[in-house]
Amino acid sequence: MQDLAEQDGRRPVRAPAQRAGLAPEAIAKVFVITGPSGVGKGTLIRALLERVPELELSTSATTRRARTGETQGEDYWFLSEDEFDRRVAEGDFVEWAEYSGRRYGTLRSELERRTSTGIPVVLEIEVQGARQVRASMPDAVQIFITPPSHEALRVRLVGRGTDAGEEVERRLKVADEEMDAQHEFGHVVVNDRLEDAVDQLEGIVRSNLNN
Ligand code: ADP
Ligand code: 5GP
Repeated sequence: MQDLAEQDGRRPVRAPAQRAGLAPEAIAKVFVITGPSGVGKGTLIRALLERVPELELSTSATTRRARTGETQGEDYWFLSEDEFDRRVAEGDFVEWAEYSGRRYGTLRSELERRTSTGIPVVLEIEVQGARQVRASMPDAVQIFITPPSHEALRVRLVGRGTDAGEEVERRLKVADEEMDAQHEFGHVVVNDRLEDAVDQLEGIVRSNLNN
């Protein structure tokens, strides 16, 4: 896996439509998938990418520590606080937000190297970031994933086993605020039975790819 600086240096020549001054999102669709931590965004996106192989997932940057099994450049670009600051100052982020004491952001390079070559992109981000994308890219398709209940969310977060008890409680607290924002989103998918939610998600994506 190459490092992030190498990846930035690999930016392709801009596609004709972009040279003509069109915004990148006019060239390929951007799908924002948001919703509380533990609702199943990652699980749903993995299934979606298998069903719609032309889609690609943007790798976010974060200042949180890698969990066991997570890889630099695949799960996230894991950055130090200083490196994140530097990239904010340089305008490298399309959006970024603080979540549970850590920062997370979408790198312009991750998004544009795909949209400028016609590859539709999925962003898996929290609600504050989704709002920023809505403001800067109104054509992006915004999808909110909800759990069948607050209790089901707790069971999933605990069952995933990646976060200590305190962190689970912090995430559940944020989840309450995030759930209040679901009306802002063009599409809401309840992730109760996984197959049904994947079907719905695929339907939304395909109908937007085809127009
Ligand atoms: P997120 O990416 O939103 O934080 P994950 O995809 O990591 O969520 O899912 C959290 C946990 O919930 C995982 O253990 C996953 O296997 C489980 N999960 C996801 N979708 C469902 C579902 N529909 N029913 C039951 N468990 C689910
Ligand atoms: P986690 O620590 O569980 O990987 O992620 C915590 C939260 O950060 C999740 O809600 C996830 O969707 C969100 N997140 C991941 N990447 C980004 C990003 O690039 N920008 C924003 N705003 N949120 C992100």
